Parts: sequence; structure tokens; C-alpha cells
Amino acid sequence: MANIHNMTFLKEKIDTLKEEGLYKELVTLEGPNESECIINGKKVINLSSNNYLGFANHPRLKQAAIDAINLYGAGAGAVRPIVGNMKIHDELEQILARFKREEAVLVFQSGFNCNAGTIQAVTEEGDLIISDELNHASIIDGARLSKAKKTTFKHSDMDDLERILKENKDKYKKMLIITDGVFSMDGDIAKLPEIVELAEKYKAMTYVDDAHASGVLGENGRGTVDHFDLHGRVDFTIGTLSKAIGVVGGYVAGKKVTIEWLINRGRPFLFSTALPPAVVGACIEAIKMLMESSEYTDRLWENATYFKKNIKDCGFDIGQSQTPITPIIIGDESKTKDFSKKLFEKGVFVSPIVFPTVPKGTGRVRCMITAGHSKDQLDKAVDIISQVGKEMKVI
Ligand code: PMP
Repeated sequence: MANIHNMTFLKEKIDTLKEEGLYKELVTLEGPNESECIINGKKVINLSSNNYLGFANHPRLKQAAIDAINLYGAGAGAVRPIVGNMKIHDELEQILARFKREEAVLVFQSGFNCNAGTIQAVTEEGDLIISDELNHASIIDGARLSKAKKTTFKHSDMDDLERILKENKDKYKKMLIITDGVFSMDGDIAKLPEIVELAEKYKAMTYVDDAHASGVLGENGRGTVDHFDLHGRVDFTIGTLSKAIGVVGGYVAGKKVTIEWLINRGRPFLFSTALPPAVVGACIEAIKMLMESSEYTDRLWENATYFKKNIKDCGFDIGQSQTPITPIIIGDESKTKDFSKKLFEKGVFVSPIVFPTVPKGTGRVRCMITAGHSKDQLDKAVDIISQVGKEMKVI
């Protein structure tokens, strides 16, 4: 028998990834994640970050983290249901519930964990999960952990969603419609008002993952539900503390009874150690900053609108983007990677996104615009992108 301990079975899989152009290597930042950062000793304009509001290295968040460490220590010491639940965790949930205008909130260690824990806990055998085909991997994995049946509807296609609801309305105990609030690869916004209407018509529950809408859409970044004024009509709203909020963590907002159930049955909540105080303190400060002023979200949208207009005027195809996520569609996978490489050489870091993350032939570089970018940085980035676009005959 072959020696399994030398891991040739993994080496072979890695070789296949390389042959298919799907192999990933890590990029290392030599400092904080800001609008400009240092990679391989080179200063580049950073158009790849989810640090939408520039909070990741904000002095107020850093000070709040230090204060929390001084008050509560470096670690929580246990899972929350045993003895890891500190006053600071309760405070974060209270302020998030006020911010989201929901009855209650439960915080998980990440957005991924939150989806993994919540979907399986609120569905069971005899239920049907109906998921937009472009939903995030953590929703797919969360649904896989559930004993419910699963199906997908075509991306944002309300006719397809209604067909599924109509066909299945009497076959299941409950139906749960799940959608991203903002789709991470295209930057389009879910048709939430239509989804909610269909859900009400066919008596299904609704679940929105606002990872890319938290801190971005709605009044002062309250999310998609607020953006469409659908308060009280969405059953589960997921948010992340890892992107616009600038730190790490995830949460579910909803009815008190939902949170009570998840405290008892949300597996990552039950079995994984609580977030450390520094993280929680910094998140509280970030939410306070959002509640105090729209300064950060206003600047984000001003920058995004400015950049998108200039990129479009150059003749690039930015697809259906309605948010600061700005994909520049290149098409061919290897051309997309070359495009990104050339941008880096000229001083702009923007990740290539190719199959299987997006459909074959729709490779793109995904520009993430933040409140932290200066007009100068955005102008310089547009100049370089346009130069490379002309060189590579994309425009
Ligand atoms: N949901 C969506 C839609 C996301 O884009 C992400 C982040 N990639 C997550 C969940 C996971 O969030 P986190 O990074 O906090 O685990």
C-alpha cells in the first residue's frame, strides 16, 4: 500500500489546482490594512479590502480594545454558556439590537459561524431551505448542516422563487428563503421587498445575510432591511463585524425568542470560546461611531460613486454593481490574473476573482472602495487601471 503519510494524495490535488489555474497563494501585509498598504516591500493602493469604513486601524477602536483588555483581560476563558459570558458581550448585543432596530441580537465568533450555527438551528427535517444560487459559502455550508431539504432559485429571479414556493407550499412544515443582502462578487442588492412579499404570500420565513451591507446600506449603515424599510418583516438578519465594522465576529438579529433558542441550540455559540474582550470592545466603539454620525457611510458612498463613474467613463464593464463593490469584468481567467498582476506592478492591489468563485468566462478584478481612500488615491488607481486596460485591450 502507498505511504499515505507523505501526503502525496494532497500534493496531487494541489497539482491539479495549479494546472486548472485555481491555486491560491497568500498575500502578506507588512502593516495595517488601510487604503494604502505594503506588500512584498512595495507600497500599493489597496482596492481589495472589506474595511469599508476605514475602522480596522482607527484610533478609537484601538483605544477601546486596549481599555477592554485592561478591564476584562486578553481572553474570555470559556464558551459563553459556561463562564465566558462577560458584561461586555451583553453590552455589544444590546447596542447592536438598538442599532439594528430589532428585539434582540446574538453574537457569534464570525459571520461564517453565525450562518453555520443559525440555519441548522432554525430548520429541521420536514422543512425546505430556498437559497439564492449566488449566496455565500457559509450559507451553503450552514444549509448543509441542516436536516431540511435544500433547493436554490436563480439569482434574484423572483419568478423562479415564486415557482418554487408555489410548488412546495403544502409539502413542508416550514419554508425558509435565504439571500445575501448584497452579493459579494457583483455588488448587486437583493430584491428584498419582492422576496418579503412572496414570503408573506406563501407563508415562508426570510433570512438575510448582510455581511456586505452592514455599515454600508441603510441609515448610518443599518443594513438592507433598513435600506428598504422592512423592519419587522424579515425573520433573521445576519451581520458581520469583520468587514465595515473593522474587527471580527458575526451576529443574528431578530425576535427575543429566536435569540433564546440560539443560546440553547446554536452550536458554534455553544461549543466555541467567546470572542476576546478586545474584539468586543472595539466592535462596541465602531457601532457607537456609526450611531453618532453618518460621516463614515457618507464618505464611503461619495468615494464609491466617484470611482465607479470614472471607471465606467473609461469604458469598463462593472456589471450590475449597486454598492461600493466594483467588479471590472475581464472575462478570460488567465487574462484576469495577468490584469491583476500588471496592476500590482504599477502600484494597485486588486484581487482577481475567477471560476469557481464566479461562473467560467466572467473573471473580474473586484475593486473594493472604502471611506479611507483619498480622492488622489482613487484618481491614481483609475489612471493605472485605465492604462493597463488599454495595454491589454480590455477597453
Ligand atoms: N456572509 C457573506 C455574504 C460574506 O461575504 C462573508 C465574508 N466573506 C461571510 C458571511 C463571513 O463573514 P466573516 O468573515 O465574519 O466570517
